[in-house]
Amino acid sequence: MCPTPEENGTSNGHADGHSNGSNGSHTGFKKVAEQKSSNPYAPVGDFLSNVSKFQIIESTLREGEQFANAFFDTETKIKIAKALDAFGVDYIELTSPAASEQSRLDCEAIVALGLKAKILTHVRCNMEDAKMAVATGVDGVDVVIGTSSFLMEHSHGKDMAYIKKTAIEVIEYVKSQGKEIRFSSEDSFRSNLVDLLTLYQAVDKVGVHRVGIADTVGCATPRQVYDLVRTLRGVVNCDIETHFHNDTGCAIANAFCALEAGATHVDTSVIGIGERNGITPLGGLMARMIVADPDYVKGKYKLHMLKEIEDMVAEAVEINIPFNNYITGFCAFTHKAGIHAKAILNNPSTYEIINPHDFGMERYVHFASRLTGWNAIKSRVEQLNLTLTDAQIKVVTQKIKALADVRPIAIDDADSIIRTFHLNLTNNENKPLIPNLTIEEQKKFAKAEMELAAVKEKRELDEEAGVPTAKKVKA
Ligand SMILES: [Zn+2]
Repeated sequence: MCPTPEENGTSNGHADGHSNGSNGSHTGFKKVAEQKSSNPYAPVGDFLSNVSKFQIIESTLREGEQFANAFFDTETKIKIAKALDAFGVDYIELTSPAASEQSRLDCEAIVALGLKAKILTHVRCNMEDAKMAVATGVDGVDVVIGTSSFLMEHSHGKDMAYIKKTAIEVIEYVKSQGKEIRFSSEDSFRSNLVDLLTLYQAVDKVGVHRVGIADTVGCATPRQVYDLVRTLRGVVNCDIETHFHNDTGCAIANAFCALEAGATHVDTSVIGIGERNGITPLGGLMARMIVADPDYVKGKYKLHMLKEIEDMVAEAVEINIPFNNYITGFCAFTHKAGIHAKAILNNPSTYEIINPHDFGMERYVHFASRLTGWNAIKSRVEQLNLTLTDAQIKVVTQKIKALADVRPIAIDDADSIIRTFHLNLTNNENKPLIPNLTIEEQKKFAKAEMELAAVKEKRELDEEAGVPTAKKVKA
C-alpha cells in the first residue's frame, strides 16, 4: 500500500533483486509514487508495514519434517514442492543435506525440478554444513545458531564472540558462491537483546540478505514481536525473516505483527506442521492476510489450491484436517443459528469476513437443527427445487425444529420432512412426516410442537400489543 524505507532507496539495496519488492512489481509501489507527485497531501500510510508486500518461506519440507508423524519420501517431497510452487510461495525450505545422505539427494532432486520458487536449505552455522548446502545447487542457504543463554550453555556451548566470527565466515563464503544467505538466531525472544542486535548489525554489515528472528519455543506475544522487530528494523538494512512456533496459540498473530513492524518474510508450513504443535500455518496466514490486503493476496497466490495442498500433506503425515482449521475446516463457512442464517442468506458479509469462494470453498447454511429458522429452510426448499409458500415453509420449519428437540437430526432427516410435507400438499395426502418415531419420541415431539406454537402465539400477541419484536427490525 505504501512504500517502505527500502522502496524509498534508504534501505537494503542488495543489487541481486532478492530484496522484498525491490523489482517494483507490486502495484502498491507505483500507485503511491504517482499519488505523491500529483497530490502532496495524499495519505502517507504506515511506512514500516509490509502487510501489503510480504514473502512466504514455506518450510513444510524442513520444519514440517520435524513433525512427529512426518516421513516424506523423495516422491512425496517432489509432489509437495511442485504444489507449493504452483500455489505461489516465494521460497521452499528443505531439510539440511547434512542431516542424512537421503536428505542431501532430495535437495538435489528438488533443485533439479527448476521451480519458480527459490529453493533454500536450512543448516547449522558452520563451514562444513554451508559447503554441503551450496554443493546441492540450492538458491540460498539459511543458517541458524542458538543465541539464548539456555542454548549457549546446554546445546552448542559456544559464546557470542565465537558465534559472530563463524557467522561472518559462513556468510562471506556463501555469498562468494553467488547464493542467497540468511542468518538466524534460535530462541531469539529469550536471547540477550544487546547481544542479539550487535550480532545482527555485524552480519548486516557483511551483506547478509536476511536476518531471522525465531520464536523457537512459542513464548512470544504479538506486542513483544512488534517491539523486537521494530527495534531490529532500526538497526539493520537487510530483509527480516520471522519464524513463529504455536505453543501458546500466537503464531499467526505474531507473524502479522512482525510484518506490521517491518519484517519482510514469514515462515509457514502446511496445516502448521512442525516441531511439537508446529508453526504459523500457510492457510491461517492466508486467512489473516486476505483480510488485511485482498488484492495482494489474491493477485499473488493460487488460493483455490489451498485445500488440495492441505489434503495432500494431511494424507502424507496421516492426520485429519482439524474441524476448526482456517478456511478448510469442515465448518469454517457453516452458519447455524437462525438469525445468522437469515442474514447470511440476505448478504453473506453480515457474518463472514472471508469469502469462501476466494478459496474455491462453499458456504453452508446449517438448517437441520433446533436453531434453524424459516429463512434457512426456505433456502433449502429452493435447493431441493420444491415450491412452497412462506406460510407453508414456516409450518414445516416448526416440524423440523420440534424433531431436532427430540433427537439429533441429519440433513437427510430434514430433507425427508420437507419432501414428504411437499408431497402431502401436492397429492392431498397425510403421510407421517417423520416415520419410525418410538412412542416416547412421538410424545416428546408433540410436546416440542406445542411449545414452539406457544412461542409463536406469544410473538403474535406481542406484535398486536405493539411490543417490539425481532420481526419488525429490518435485516
Ligand atoms: Zn521451528
